[in-house]
Amino acid sequence: MKLRIAEILKEMPVGKEVSVKGWVRTKRGNNAVNFIALNDGSIVHSIQVVADVAKFDENLLKNITTGACIAVSGELTTSLGKGQSVEIQANTIELLGTANPETYPLQKKGHSMEFLRTIAHLRPRTNYFGCVLRLRHALAFAIHNFFNSKGFVYIHTPIITGADCEGAGEMFEVTTLDVGNPPRTEQGNVDYSKDFFGKETHLTVSGQLNGELCAMALGNIYTFGPTFRAENSNTPRHLAEFWMIEPEMAFYELEDNMQLAEEFIKYCIKYALEHNLDDIRFLNDMFDNELLQRLMDTVDTEFVRLTYTQAIDILLQSGKKFEFKVEWGTDLQSEHERYLVENHFHKPVILIDYPKEIKAFYMKQNQDGKTVRAMDVLFPKIGEIIGGSQREENLEKLQQIIKERQMNEAELEFYLDTRRFGTAPHSGFGLGFERLMLFVTGMSNIRDVIPFPRTPQNADY
Ligand code: ATP
Ligand code: MN
Repeated sequence: MKLRIAEILKEMPVGKEVSVKGWVRTKRGNNAVNFIALNDGSIVHSIQVVADVAKFDENLLKNITTGACIAVSGELTTSLGKGQSVEIQANTIELLGTANPETYPLQKKGHSMEFLRTIAHLRPRTNYFGCVLRLRHALAFAIHNFFNSKGFVYIHTPIITGADCEGAGEMFEVTTLDVGNPPRTEQGNVDYSKDFFGKETHLTVSGQLNGELCAMALGNIYTFGPTFRAENSNTPRHLAEFWMIEPEMAFYELEDNMQLAEEFIKYCIKYALEHNLDDIRFLNDMFDNELLQRLMDTVDTEFVRLTYTQAIDILLQSGKKFEFKVEWGTDLQSEHERYLVENHFHKPVILIDYPKEIKAFYMKQNQDGKTVRAMDVLFPKIGEIIGGSQREENLEKLQQIIKERQMNEAELEFYLDTRRFGTAPHSGFGLGFERLMLFVTGMSNIRDVIPFPRTPQNADY
């Protein structure tokens, strides 16, 4: 029976002959018997292979070192040893690939996260990163499940965009012009009419505007794709390339939007707890002893709802010295967000009604003339995990703010058409997939929850 280790540990076919292939984690033993811990990536646990030294070629056993790849067949037996319930009594061992102990970087000892980032090509071989990648898969799957079960339509929004007006962050330019010697207009500017698309283009910072176009026809949609921001922010919570989930719903007001966001995050966490408990337990035991409890608490708790103005009052009254000054009208920094969540409420908080100046042009304006129907979901250890809003559906109000901000209205005509023709209240939000990953894995740096991170000065692998 060819089986993956996850299947063996689930089905426990004791007494049967099983075949597994995988990578050696460790080997120990004596003159009579070798114990090989073998992992095939299907589960965090390795299976113990027992090799009778007399039965195998000396050279073969010598080459079975940490990192080598082998195929093993043998009887599955219950194990008397500590730490495992079953083991394989090897009948045949085939060496598929050696890993020289002198040069293979992942030896038995624990390595720092910083070191592992420098060998991102081998990092998937570690237990920690195996857990991260399995959880990443599970959460991606959960996200599609959640929206699919609610009848949302998955929309693929463009990655290359000609719209320069999303305003969510600094953009990367996309061009086929010779950057050393681009064609020039008479005025001496770069002549983008000669570029591939005949205009200036960038990598998208958000699929929202396109998402809105589709929501105003299909009702409920979501996107789940890569997003790019050229902000030079070297923080543990920002990537230059990250994945974002952006649902957009016609006929949703801010209340509905908040409710959906809360239900959505809880569903994802619950899904991970149900399907990947082994991975979460491993991360809990190795890195963050409060992880499991934190996840279970989050699923059970009701998120706090609070206005920005109330939050400012709490921060001002806290008496705490923050690095960045707290003042009505300025954006909250991560330290403020985390104070509210971790020190004041001890649970996730949804903050709404932000000052309009610090939020995007498309957010619905409140009656007070000062605030907009924005919502940020704030999480412990992370700060902002979701940013969203009810959208301004009134054409005149939208045009007014576009003028005030001196944005290029001509470029936004396509967007304004949704308000011109059959406008309706609608709302949406964006969840940074890696921020969710940070929360579910308990990792403290966003570089450690994506296979090959892109950050300032780093695009290796
Ligand atoms: P922040 O204030 O944390 O920089 P933002 O307000 O710029 O985030 P939004 O434009 O609201 O972010 O994007 C929606 C979501 O995308 C955020 O709530 C966050 O989860 C995620 N996100 C934003 N920027 C990044 C980034 N550079 N790397 C990873 N995730 C990000
Ligand atoms: Mn935001």
